[in-house]
Amino acid sequence: MKEDIIFNLKQVHHRIEKACQDSGRDVSDVQLLLATKTVPADKIQIAVEAGENLIGENKMQELRDKDAELKNLNINRHFIGHLQTNKVKDVLKYVSCIQSLDRLSLAEELHKQLQKEGRNIDVFVQVNTSFEESKFGLPPADVIPFIKEIKKYDTLKIKGLMTIGLLDVEKEKMRPSLRLLREIRDKIYEAKIENLTDLKLSMGMSQDLELAVAEGSNLVRVGTSIFGNRFLGKEIWNENIAE
Ligand SMILES: *Cc1c(COP(=O)(O)O)cnc(C)c1O
Repeated sequence: MKEDIIFNLKQVHHRIEKACQDSGRDVSDVQLLLATKTVPADKIQIAVEAGENLIGENKMQELRDKDAELKNLNINRHFIGHLQTNKVKDVLKYVSCIQSLDRLSLAEELHKQLQKEGRNIDVFVQVNTSFEESKFGLPPADVIPFIKEIKKYDTLKIKGLMTIGLLDVEKEKMRPSLRLLREIRDKIYEAKIENLTDLKLSMGMSQDLELAVAEGSNLVRVGTSIFGNRFLGKEIWNENIAE
């Protein structure tokens, strides 16, 4: 098990490096986040001992269950799943970044809680660039107004945009949903919104990380290629079910 994880991690880093080379990008511009939903803490620990430090979890329950084993490790945890407003307070105990900010009511609730605690948090705005009903995220056209609106919440540090791309067996069908996230970022730059000059793109998973890097990803979120398959059959990309 340990050897497998270490081997897989090397493979994934090779894939990222190769994708960077192929698109003339600097490998230091692309970070790897381990998507660890359903992965037990001991396996995560193996990856951390191998040098990883960025973990993404989708559920409050899993953050809590794994916390005892993980909290003393030198890691950063991000929340990458759909976040219900009533879980905000609990999730904030564990994470340094919310990558799934997708609605005003959530921004409001986060701000309220963060103000109480006297702290800030990093956020990524989740965008539904594949236009699939099974995914959360703002419609692309709503992103700029949304960002303008949440600028008033000074506890939320807007770090970038996140998407779950369209997954398909045909590679080129996956590219448009990744490219679109980059185009939305460019539009945000063009809109010259105060202080938003360095936005990162969180996109790319086991199946599409090469394409995502080619389209400008700064943060790939990889689970299966490192820890193996989670689910048998089923529609794994229905975020409603994953919830
Ligand atoms: C599970 C998950 C990933 C990783 O997907 P894999 O196909 O296992 O690499 C990335 N992003 C999010 C939001 C996820 O929930």
